[in-house]
Amino acid sequence: MATPKSFLASVLGNHCPACRTGRLFKVKNAYRLKSMNDMAPACPVCDTSFSREPGFYFGAAYVNYALTVALWVAVLVALHVFSSLGWLEFNGFFDHPQTFLVSGVVTLLVMLPPLQRLSRSIWIHMFVRHGSGHQASGGE
Ligand SMILES: [Zn+2]
Repeated sequence: MATPKSFLASVLGNHCPACRTGRLFKVKNAYRLKSMNDMAPACPVCDTSFSREPGFYFGAAYVNYALTVALWVAVLVALHVFSSLGWLEFNGFFDHPQTFLVSGVVTLLVMLPPLQRLSRSIWIHMFVRHGSGHQASGGE
């Protein structure tokens, strides 16, 4: 038997929240844009439903928003670090807004598919408990 994944590994790896083994998405590569958001209807391993209810993943947009904000902050921090290393010139947002905006937009575009998936993964992990298996409905 494989060792059980940690919660974090399951979230980051886009695995089923109930068994942490099955995959949430049909196609592993997030950069195949056509199938980027194609989720399996249910876990191929433990049969936990991934579709749940209509509009369930609407809430994932909030997670995506939070991740996007975190990404912009990370870009700002990275630019300051690169600047202190002498790799580029960046003295803060107001001195070099174009550097910040261009790096931010490029990073966002590159990170969009995995972020999109990550927000869905985080979202479903918030509602389905590990080990809940097929009998996930009803009560605690
Ligand atoms: Zn599963």
